[in-house]
Amino acid sequence: MNTLSLGLVAGGTRLAFGLLGRLSGQRLSVLTFHRVHARPDPLFPGEPDADRFDQLMRLVARSFRVLSLARAAEHLSQASLPARSLVLTFDDGYADNVDVALPILQRHGLTASFFVSTGFLDGGRMWNDSVIECLRASTRSSLDLTELGVAATLPLQTLEQRQQAVQQLLPQIKYLNLEQRELALTKLQSLCGVAHLPRNLMMSTAQLRSLQNAGMEIGGHTVSHPILTTLSGEQAEQEIAQGRERLQQLIDQPIQVFAYPNGKPGQDYDASHVALVRKLGFRAAVSTAAGAAGAGADLLQLPRYTPWARGLPLWAARLALNQRRRRYDMAAAA
Ligand SMILES: [Zn+2]
Repeated sequence: MNTLSLGLVAGGTRLAFGLLGRLSGQRLSVLTFHRVHARPDPLFPGEPDADRFDQLMRLVARSFRVLSLARAAEHLSQASLPARSLVLTFDDGYADNVDVALPILQRHGLTASFFVSTGFLDGGRMWNDSVIECLRASTRSSLDLTELGVAATLPLQTLEQRQQAVQQLLPQIKYLNLEQRELALTKLQSLCGVAHLPRNLMMSTAQLRSLQNAGMEIGGHTVSHPILTTLSGEQAEQEIAQGRERLQQLIDQPIQVFAYPNGKPGQDYDASHVALVRKLGFRAAVSTAAGAAGAGADLLQLPRYTPWARGLPLWAARLALNQRRRRYDMAAAA
């Protein structure tokens, strides 16, 4: 997109969000990112790469007032949220957040919040990436999944078939308990015939510190990224508290913000986890419910929404429509 058309989209976005704010009160947009690839990933054509992310950040920098989550929460609690406020968040702690996204954020003078699961720092890998990297690297032309308890054979001959295999397998493994999941991953890796999986997908502690030194906000995201509702209360507290303590040790700063793993209210976390997050002293937390929070919102269940659209005008229009959502999901009070 050239500078003139970017200017037009940014102008339209400022106008629309300014008007929406005046009509129905200021609301906070919070965007979610996971990976930002150096180059487009053929398995996930919808995920941002450096060029796409740079375009988005150019628009964001010209259209919004970008705040850290702690600062935005403070404004919400005092009903003093500035017009066109937006928070950028990154979940899980991917190394490309530092290698690829950070220089782009800095180029545009933007701040962001990074929610890091401490168990994967320095060479760890999330289960979903184990599935993805197995299916990416496998030289098999199909997979017979009966050993995994799934009556299906997945063809792997074309890129589209591999994309479909990823989309079919991830939801089946997501809600297994930790032990069953490990077992399923080991079986999958041997079925795929893949000897080695990458160990450099997640941040190192040095990279985590470089984010902190660059003035970025670091937030808790548990140790091992469990679905909190599958744990006992004691296990959930350990996951949240130990993740936070580890981050505080590593960056020598208090950790004030949190993102619920997977983040779906009532399904991935419930009111007991909100109470835990409050008890542990977090000032703000984000879910993955769509919507935009206004004054008086529950600061420990702030919604997030990331539009999916190739073109920037549609992307901005969808983000504006999200501001119009009157209600968003929250975990019901216990
Ligand atoms: Zn996550």
